Amino acid sequence: MSDTDADAPPTTESNALRTPIVAVLGHVDHGKTTLLDKIRGSAVSEGEAGAITQHIGATAVPLETVSQMAGSLVKPEDFDLPGLLFIDTPGHHSFSTLRSRGGALADIAIVVVDVNDGFQPQTIEALDILKRTGTPFVVAANKIDTTPGWNPNEGSPIQGTYEDQSDNARQRLDQNLYEIIGNLSDEGFSADLYWRVQNFQKNVGVVPLSAMTGEGIPDLLAVLMGLSQRYMKEEMAVDVAGPGAGTVLEVKEERGFGATVDVVLYDGSVREDDTIVVGGVNGPIVTEVRALLQPRPNAEIRTEKRFDKVEEVAAAAGIKIAAPDLDDAMAGAPIRVVRDRSVEAVIEDVESELAEIEVDTEEEGVVVKADTLGSLEAMANALREAEVPILRAEVGDVAPRDVAVASTAREDDHKVILGFNVDVLSNAEDELEKTGDVRLFEDDVIYQLVEEYEEFVAERKRAQQ
Ligand code: GDP
Repeated sequence: MSDTDADAPPTTESNALRTPIVAVLGHVDHGKTTLLDKIRGSAVSEGEAGAITQHIGATAVPLETVSQMAGSLVKPEDFDLPGLLFIDTPGHHSFSTLRSRGGALADIAIVVVDVNDGFQPQTIEALDILKRTGTPFVVAANKIDTTPGWNPNEGSPIQGTYEDQSDNARQRLDQNLYEIIGNLSDEGFSADLYWRVQNFQKNVGVVPLSAMTGEGIPDLLAVLMGLSQRYMKEEMAVDVAGPGAGTVLEVKEERGFGATVDVVLYDGSVREDDTIVVGGVNGPIVTEVRALLQPRPNAEIRTEKRFDKVEEVAAAAGIKIAAPDLDDAMAGAPIRVVRDRSVEAVIEDVESELAEIEVDTEEEGVVVKADTLGSLEAMANALREAEVPILRAEVGDVAPRDVAVASTAREDDHKVILGFNVDVLSNAEDELEKTGDVRLFEDDVIYQLVEEYEEFVAERKRAQQ
């Protein structure tokens, strides 16, 4: 690749390859935030201006920087993907609410597992979500620096360091790593230490690393780049001049701009003055882009101007969009640019995407119906707090299909439909009567609805005693 090619911004031509979007998942305290900070921090300390670009809600690490960080493990000439875009908010709640047309918004996930703590409930939850959305992932076996006797050898590929350790440390680490590989296999994934993996599409690579010392991060970056370059290139081919498609991360009030949406754009581009359709609490919102805003580097003082305006932004990118009428926009909702199609067709698209949201499902759980995506998320959160599993969660009135789904629940406690602010279709009432064993609870106050359900469960328990 010539210098000119390497320097060219990857987003100016049509049909360019976009940056793969990477999300970090894993159990609480296993090191997700530390890992993201370390990747951002080491990229910056490489010292180059433009080593990373801080987007709204995400950090872009260009190929050049990835390559500087990963040393000989990532040679720029082997890649034509422009780098990696890391979503800044770790955790599977944000992962599962951030969806795109095809499933998950993120193209790849990093599942962080503390080597000493091993698999924990949220590790398994994260894997379930990845399984369901078919998202490829890598496991970061984190905190290897805590293995007694372990001598971090910064800068060298982990495999070399690993081979050099004293027997004690090595055995202990080996044991922990094999336990993680075994646990992955219990969850239905064939996994191995990453340097033994031939095909990252079929096998999950486990990368031992320390988010604290940075050891192993070059290896992680190399695996992420290799995985995307080899298996995801076609999905990364986007028409960057085409109408943008993205997902709303957050709705925020900004002084001087009113309600704005923070968006991750995964396809096409958004320009100033574009007409956009954004998913809202009361259905699609049609509006016009007033300003596209990026965080201003080093703007830490609150009184300082915090954003730079840009005229256009192309996928993959995080961007803040200021536009009229965004007060009712929803986190997790789709956003589409209207350019070559009719507004009606785009509205229809957005509506159909709003119609269904799936949350962390297990083999068992209750069925939840709500009037909007926002209230559905609130319901899902309330139920999570009450440790009530959810089998299916959807926007819309209670339909016969919901009764059929609820009746498949293994436990009677879960043969339940919770309807928030929705109607019950008359054929669903017939179905309820016919099935006989499905209970329906309805309310327009979330906590009351959850309480009614909890009381029902408690009463059943008392009756059984
Ligand atoms: P999160 O909840 O998954 O985001 O976890 P954090 O990134 O907040 O990390 C939880 C704790 O583990 C913090 O005290 C970190 O300093 C510590 N930690 C994270 N990564 C490492 C590591 O590689 N080595 C060591 N020794 N500690 C780590």
